[in-house]
Amino acid sequence: MEMLAYTYIEKRRFGLIKKTVPVLLDPRDAIVKVTLGSICTSDLHIRHGSVPRAVPGITVGHEMVGIVERTGSSVSKVRPGDRVAVNVETFCGECFFCRHGYVNNCTDPDGGWALGCRIDGGQAEYVRVPHADQGLSLISEGISDEQALFVGDILSTGYWAAKISEIGKEDTVLIIGAGPTGICSLLCTMLKKPERIIVCEKDPVRADFVKKHYPSVLVTGPEDCKEFTLANSAHGGADVVMEVAGSDGSFRLAWECARPNATVTIVALYDRPQILPLPEMYGKNLVFKTGGVDGCDCDEILRLISEGKIDTTPLITHRIPLSHIEEGYRIFENREDGVIKVAVTV
Ligand SMILES: [Zn+2]
Ligand SMILES: [Zn+2]
Repeated sequence: MEMLAYTYIEKRRFGLIKKTVPVLLDPRDAIVKVTLGSICTSDLHIRHGSVPRAVPGITVGHEMVGIVERTGSSVSKVRPGDRVAVNVETFCGECFFCRHGYVNNCTDPDGGWALGCRIDGGQAEYVRVPHADQGLSLISEGISDEQALFVGDILSTGYWAAKISEIGKEDTVLIIGAGPTGICSLLCTMLKKPERIIVCEKDPVRADFVKKHYPSVLVTGPEDCKEFTLANSAHGGADVVMEVAGSDGSFRLAWECARPNATVTIVALYDRPQILPLPEMYGKNLVFKTGGVDGCDCDEILRLISEGKIDTTPLITHRIPLSHIEEGYRIFENREDGVIKVAVTV
């Protein structure tokens, strides 16, 4: 049986080609019929050739929901017919890192970001999910595909960022970057109910999006950010900074806006190395947290969605069928038409 799969053909070239529908390769696998997927900035990184681990020939896409089609003999969490959110990360659940919740560093050969990078992903009609008991989360009846779409990737990232940032009730939290992951970080920060949240965003469309949907949040631009944060915090800067922009100068801005002894969480994936000028920050005694999401809270996130505490549906600004996915990429990459996220219908 054949299906359409959007494929990393070579550097700078993706193509929608026909492939064989995936089959179970391991008793822990599940085959999921994709019902809704999305395009992520990391997909663009693969196309630009800035993800060295990405394997040419693989189907891209790592943010999706669908219906379980088949399960291997040792899969027990899900059954055929179940609606599921797929985790961007593959993890065994048994190794040292998994047992501590650091699933991004799972030592399994497939561990970490594999789907749509090292193994076939979900911008296709079907996807094989290894370690399905870890990588799939049941979507309950009251939750739509669109509500659950970002659970496995950008919403997990925002949830993780807010979790590791140790946000207190009296804190001013500065979030740099209001792209899709920045907004997910904002939503999860709001759950912690800090005293104040400031979002720094240079793109007027994205700044307006934040003002419109989250009126309690203060919004500033990169030029004024330092002064604005100083004026809107109690101890000479933000108590917590999340750097979700990953643009030129945003790393520097992040630690400059932090108060002494603040936590600075680096969520962004940079294209280039960043400079950590230790002499300049000596005595500021900052705590830096860096790296990629440990996506082990999907079930909890789905529960919060079902309770109405997180809603990412406003992020879906465009809906494109898989057959027209090129157009979705064009809109997303060029930030046309006020796009935040493109949902790919299958
Ligand atoms: Zn992603
Ligand atoms: Zn593991």
